[in-house]
Amino acid sequence: MSLPKPIEQVSKLLAQLPGLGPRQALRLTFYLLHQDKETQKLLVSSLTNLFQNISLCQDCFFPFENKTEEVLCDICRNPSRDHTTICVVEKETDLLSLEKTNKYRGLYQILGGLYSNIDDNKNKNLTINQLINRIKKSAKTNKPIREVILALNPTSEGNLTAFHLEKLIRDLNMKIKISRLARGIPTGGEIEFTDSETLINSLEGRK
Ligand SMILES: [Zn+2]
Repeated sequence: MSLPKPIEQVSKLLAQLPGLGPRQALRLTFYLLHQDKETQKLLVSSLTNLFQNISLCQDCFFPFENKTEEVLCDICRNPSRDHTTICVVEKETDLLSLEKTNKYRGLYQILGGLYSNIDDNKNKNLTINQLINRIKKSAKTNKPIREVILALNPTSEGNLTAFHLEKLIRDLNMKIKISRLARGIPTGGEIEFTDSETLINSLEGRK
């Protein structure tokens, strides 16, 4: 049997979300249908609010509330942060874990995923070019980037990404210190789920 079009449409969209397969997406669609009208309305308005009022920072790609004409997030706008250091992370939740340590005072760059040497299509969504341009642009200001911390998970994809980024940054010939944040985080482990104390140790012991 074929399902009504709206059900198919929503579950197809949900199936694109990370960690959701077609079957779970369909289950979630039915779940949403069973919610009371109030909850359904709130869900729709919250999503609209999210998509309309949140923008991605032009420099680091972290989301922020776009109440003014501002194009940068709170971190990038903060003059008391160290604007000569960029910490590269895979995703927003990694940034949040590092912020929770209260130890890091530099800026960030959200890559939006990890580099793949098989699937070049996936690489197109990463902010690698933007990172390189950002570093190049900084050289013309009074706050040139002096250090890039590659805070990527110590998995094979994370290591490959770090390797790739390191080469691109070195090719800039800009006297930039490139450090890795891996010490203390177990191999195959994830920054997002690493406790603050371990993260502080790996930040301070970066090399
Ligand atoms: Zn930013």
